[in-house]
Parts: sequence; structure tokens; C-alpha cells
Amino acid sequence: MTIRIERVNKFFGNFQALHDVNLEIPEGQLTALLGPSGSGKTTLLRIIAGLESNDQGRILFGDQDVSKLHVRDRNIGFVFQHYALFRNLTVAQNIAFGLESLPRRERPAKAEIAKRVKELLEMIQLPQLADRYPAQLSGGQKQRVALARALATRPRILLLDEPFGALDAKVRKDLRRWLRSLHDEFHFTSIFVTHDQEEALELSDQVVVMSHGRVEQVNTPTELYARPESRFVFDFLGHVNVLSGQIESDRLSQGDAWVRLPQAAQQGEAQLCLRPHEVRLVEQPSEHAYLPFNIEAVSLIGSEVRVELRPDGWAGDEIWEVGISHAEFNRRQPKRGDRCYAVPDVGHLFVGTDSKPRT
Ligand code: ATP
Repeated sequence: MTIRIERVNKFFGNFQALHDVNLEIPEGQLTALLGPSGSGKTTLLRIIAGLESNDQGRILFGDQDVSKLHVRDRNIGFVFQHYALFRNLTVAQNIAFGLESLPRRERPAKAEIAKRVKELLEMIQLPQLADRYPAQLSGGQKQRVALARALATRPRILLLDEPFGALDAKVRKDLRRWLRSLHDEFHFTSIFVTHDQEEALELSDQVVVMSHGRVEQVNTPTELYARPESRFVFDFLGHVNVLSGQIESDRLSQGDAWVRLPQAAQQGEAQLCLRPHEVRLVEQPSEHAYLPFNIEAVSLIGSEVRVELRPDGWAGDEIWEVGISHAEFNRRQPKRGDRCYAVPDVGHLFVGTDSKPRT
């Protein structure tokens, strides 16, 4: 079921929470609504669900305009951050709840309900916990049960609002992987809200980046990461190292520091933005760049080593971050106070006040 959102606006009193949102959510895919707090993600999700009305525009499920349809009639499954399981019902009873509460003519027979609950318990890989109560489950298990409960009535669409927000980092990661593989098997049309860029990039087929009630950019995780269309998207998707300066022929300079650009660009102000993996560290300046740094800190962050660098004599106080492999760390033994030079790889050049990058 493809979802289309056409020119949707939303006001709370005088405050405009959504501005002219146009969006297509492809059938069978996992779409993330990603953005900082207050960017309108939850409001948009609630409008899709029918928990909130839109002031202008339309919401279409397939060809059907559902804008005026009650939440009950939209056939949607929900999972929220706080599991909201019924404490006095067992896992199996929680999962069966939506089916038991259907109007009599839509309600499956008792045997059919039992069969579906069994299937859902298998799907969430918790068949052994059918008779437990929510208080006897871990946070991750509760969220799986909440998901099974949301899917019991076979909704056309699944909406998840920060579903892993209340869980610790390790459980979050496991549940993300689990949800992704479940999705690859069953292909629900799903939308989930998150403010965690790593979660959005890892889990979804399509990411919608939102800011101040507007859609900033929509694309697959890889395209979005490789081709952000604005500084906002670039900054929001991870750490950014910036050289702000002036372009003169094929050089971008800031004080004594400079970088040679792959081709001559228009003169004027520009910013070269680089991800930590787009910078190499060397011991001598190269012919491509003169970017001197003093090492500020070196820290082990799991699979790689993060080196924090303070520009030496240029660009004020902005710290750069570069990731190096453990092998390189062992070979070079970088430590606080050492001097080194950076050589940028490709990076993104944002020219003047133009927010569109040129690679
Ligand atoms: P978060 O990640 O913090 O949940 P969000 O991106 O989901 O943020 P929304 O909850 O959609 O943001 O809120 C968008 C804006 O609309 C915020 O400025 C919020 O204060 C405002 N807002 C949301 N609901 C209401 C309401 N019922 N009445 C008034 N203002 C509201």
C-alpha cells in the first residue's frame, strides 16, 4: 500500500508545525522520519494514523483519500516508545487483544485467533513466553510483543514512533537487526520515527530528513549520506570537519592553510565539509593541502581509533575528527600534542550562501 502525502500543512493555534509536506512512502518498504526534536516527525506520523487531523492537503493510501477517515478505519498497526502492554494480560492475551476486540462479524473464530497468536509468537521468536506477564519480560522482549500485537489484525500499514527509544544501546542494536530481517521477510509498509541518524541509516530503505516542519531531503540511506543537498542534512548525518575560507582559482584558503580543489571554482566564500573517513593524516604537508594540526585527543571507539585535531594557526576553535584503523594506530602511535597534517579526500564543497553542494 503506497502512502502519498500531498501538500499537508498543520497548525497548532498560530504555530505551524508542518509546512507543505509532500511525500511518497513506497509500498513494502521501511521509511524513516528523521529529524531533531520538534521537527514535526511525530505530528506527521499522527496525521498519517488519523490521530491528528491535517489542516490542508490530502493523505492517500493507494488511491483512497483517507484524510477524513477515523483512525479505527485506517487499518494501521502501531508501536510506541513505551510498550503500553496490558499488565494484567499474558503475552498471548496481549497479542490476541486486537483480534478479540474486533466487531463480532470481523472477529476470527477462537481457534483461528489461537493459531494466529501462535504464528506471531514464532515470528517474534518468543513462543516459550506465551504465558508470561509483561512484568516478567525484558524491555526488548516487551517491544517484540508490542510489535506482534500491532501486526495481529494484519494491518495494511505499520507505524512505529521511536520504538527502541527507551532501550539500552546493545538491545537497540539487536532489535534493529531483528526488525530489519523481519521486514525483509514480510514487507510491511512501515514508517518509523527516530532522531537517531545511525538508526535511520542502518534500518530503513528510505530516509525522510525533516527540519522545522519541512521535508529537507528524501533518499536511500547511501544516497543521502553520499549526496546531502544542504548543510543541515550533511551536519545531521554525522560528524563534519569544516574548512571555511576563500576560493582563489583552484585553492580554498583560510589564513596559511589551504586545500587544492579538483577543479577551479568560482571565487568567493566556500566551505569544504569532510566526514571523518574522508581525511587522511600524514606527517609532512603534501602537494594537495596544507592543513597543520596538533593532536588534541586519541580514543579507542571499538572498531577504530578516533583522533581529535586542533587546527594549528587557522580556523579558530573547530576540532576535526579523523578515524584511523588499529593497525595504523599501532604503527604511528599518535599522541596528544603531536603535530600532523590532514589531506582531504573528496568531500563536499558548499559555495557562498548557496546551500547546494558541489562534489
Ligand atoms: P520529538 O523528537 O521531540 O518528538 P518531533 O520531531 O516528533 O519531536 P513533533 O512532536 O511533531 O516533533 O512537534 C513539532 C512541533 O509541534 C513542536 O514544536 C511541538 O511543540 C509542536 N506541537 C506538537 N503537538 C502539539 C500540540 N498538541 N499543541 C501545540 N503544539 C504542538
